[in-house]
Amino acid sequence: MTTPAKEIRAAVADLRAPLLPAYLTVPVRVVQGDSESMDTLAWCDVHHPDDNDCGACETVETLHPALAHLIAVLLAAREPLAAWLESWDGVELHEDGPMRDDFQHALKVARVILGGAQ
Ligand SMILES: [Zn+2]
Repeated sequence: MTTPAKEIRAAVADLRAPLLPAYLTVPVRVVQGDSESMDTLAWCDVHHPDDNDCGACETVETLHPALAHLIAVLLAAREPLAAWLESWDGVELHEDGPMRDDFQHALKVARVILGGAQ
């Protein structure tokens, strides 16, 4: 039987799962793509804060600037979200009992991450 604590732990594991190939684990940036829009995700071993692809960057063009921004933000948010959810580990709260509002938000986030009810 699943419990809110198990759902939170499962969401933390999902957030920390090796989702990307190792060469894509460096921070992602949004850069100008072939379409000349800021619609391309770029990963690079070389730190360069500009908006360009240095030629050695690994890139994925999304063709939608808003989507590229959203993907970059969500990838960057994975570890902070995991740490926040993990901070609830061990807290004795039950879904059918009184739950602090922020725990309800954490549970909602965990369920979205797990692909369940929103
Ligand atoms: Zn580069």
